[in-house]
Amino acid sequence: MTVNIAIASGKGGTGKTTVAVNMALSLGDVQLIDCDVENPNGHLFLGKELEKVEPVNLIIPVIDKAKCTKCGKCSDFCRYNALVTFKHDSLFFPEMCHGCGGCMMVCPEKAITETTRPIGKIFTTTVGKMDFWSGLLNIGEPMATPVIKNLKSHIESSRSALLDSPPGTACPVIETMSDANFVILVTEPTPFGLHDLKLSIDVVRMLDIPFGVIVNRMGSGDDRVQMHCKAEEINLLMEIPQSQEIASLYSKGIPFVTVMPEWKEKFMDLYDRISKEVGQ
Ligand code: SF4
Ligand code: SF4
Repeated sequence: MTVNIAIASGKGGTGKTTVAVNMALSLGDVQLIDCDVENPNGHLFLGKELEKVEPVNLIIPVIDKAKCTKCGKCSDFCRYNALVTFKHDSLFFPEMCHGCGGCMMVCPEKAITETTRPIGKIFTTTVGKMDFWSGLLNIGEPMATPVIKNLKSHIESSRSALLDSPPGTACPVIETMSDANFVILVTEPTPFGLHDLKLSIDVVRMLDIPFGVIVNRMGSGDDRVQMHCKAEEINLLMEIPQSQEIASLYSKGIPFVTVMPEWKEKFMDLYDRISKEVGQ
């Protein structure tokens, strides 16, 4: 019985990583994948040194200018505008290149070969039976998706995985969710929380993945999120209260399930409910 659960939110700071880490520690034998590769912080709550596994490289073109006839077929092909051909020269903008390889295929002179460009790194550690994987996008690199793809390639299909998504609704979020059986959307009980939640719901519905909502810091705002979930028949999975004790533990980097064991039961029950819902 395995299930891949993405944990997402419309904006940062809603408690997405709190849910992912506490749920992973409650389950124990699970894979926790920190897909927030621009700002990974799951490891900060595990108290373990990370081991570097491998770099993430993007394949990029190299133009042999002696062979190039400046025909422009490569730049016409490149829909990311990473290549520009002038009458007497051609230019390549590596940051715009998605590494699709198409320009190499269309060049009639075989003037384009490939090389690699490092854009990030993959790290791992273990906590008991839990495997933790984390990616880090190099500073200044614009494309998180290839690092997330690499991270996901380390998931063992015979075991369940929790994927801590980047915030927002852009490509890295969609890449994180794309192989998930279920998505947990974490939000706060505020007008801003509801606004961002609605955007996330649109994305998950577009991807046609079953989902439910966790309200974090319950009691700190109003009941608009609950009312919206009720009206839209959205599964309200869990409410985590606004709690001085939880906030204090968070500020010290201590996952609250490690000192509040009743929450371990709640996260295990949540996992069971999700597994049943997706029929795994
Ligand atoms: S397709 Fe090949 S020959 Fe034509 S401009 Fe590009 S690199 Fe040069
Ligand atoms: S590999 Fe793809 S994205 Fe990169 S320059 Fe060539 S066509 Fe453009």
